[in-house]
Amino acid sequence: NGAGISGSYAFYSQGMDAHIAGKLFLESGLRKALHQQEFFLVYQPKIDVQTRALVSVEVLLRWQHPERGLISPSEFISIAEETGLILQIDAWVLNSACQQAKLWQDAGLTPFRIAVNLSANEFTSGLPSKIEAVLRQYQISPDWLELEITESMLMHNTESVIEIMEQLVALGVSLALDDFGTGYSSLSYLKRFPISSIKIDRSFVQGIPADASDCAIASAIIVMAHQLQLKVVAEGVEATEQYQFLSAASCDEVQGFLFSRPTSPQEIVNLIGKVF
Ligand code: C2E
Ligand code: CA
Ligand code: CA
Ligand code: CA
Repeated sequence: NGAGISGSYAFYSQGMDAHIAGKLFLESGLRKALHQQEFFLVYQPKIDVQTRALVSVEVLLRWQHPERGLISPSEFISIAEETGLILQIDAWVLNSACQQAKLWQDAGLTPFRIAVNLSANEFTSGLPSKIEAVLRQYQISPDWLELEITESMLMHNTESVIEIMEQLVALGVSLALDDFGTGYSSLSYLKRFPISSIKIDRSFVQGIPADASDCAIASAIIVMAHQLQLKVVAEGVEATEQYQFLSAASCDEVQGFLFSRPTSPQEIVNLIGKVF
């Protein structure tokens, strides 16, 4: 009856209001977060399956909110993208990561790559000069820097996207295709884009070894990537059985809680040279 409908409508509408209020709360918080130094970076090792050594670290953003505590990027990156704030945030991440890379490089550590996530908004013709500038500013060797990009960035304007990618590669940085298998892109993209590695998404790694389809997908991605001279990184490896399967399937690098959670720069130094 009428009362029931309006009752549930009011409930739904309140839920929507709460959702919108939550977004507005995060949005206004995001505007302040940069100035108030509420962001920080954590680093998660990628391990070479052959040598079992740390060969790369993925840079992951964290937001220490004054009232709400630690907020995950999956909660705020999309809001930052909608509002355009992502450009400032990504610039801050790139700068801070390169500053950290410079410290590591100057400490004389065995070289490893530093992988920065880029948002789709970032993938424009201005990107190569931004990257070039930050490499010059911090005097870091370009082969230390890796950029993780997602399939969705590559869907539009294919020609100009390839040109941007080629300019980045010409600078000496490497490109990784993130969350592989979750987008819509055709496999033919893989041979056209100058990428050096692909990252098998955690959603496929999760089902290994129990789920036969996930095992088949992961193995097939590895075989195909190798035939295209691409390296393969598996993300979200949490269990020894997953690692064993991926290692037997000749996956090149693994990343996940099994080896290390995203951690502080100090802890990364302790993990260099460790046999995982
Ligand atoms: P992503 O690029 O796919 O990053 C991997 C995510 O998986 C990270 O979540 C990481 O903490 C998590 N992870 C790693 N190993 C495991 C595991 O073994 N098990 C499980 N359950 N999770 C694992 P995080 O740090 O919350 O980041 C979420 C997403 O936010 C990232 O997904 C990336 O798309 C985005 N992001 C993070 N930092 C940045 C950034 O600086 N800039 C941009 N544009 N996006 C970022
Ligand atoms: Ca990533
Ligand atoms: Ca990923
Ligand atoms: Ca993912």
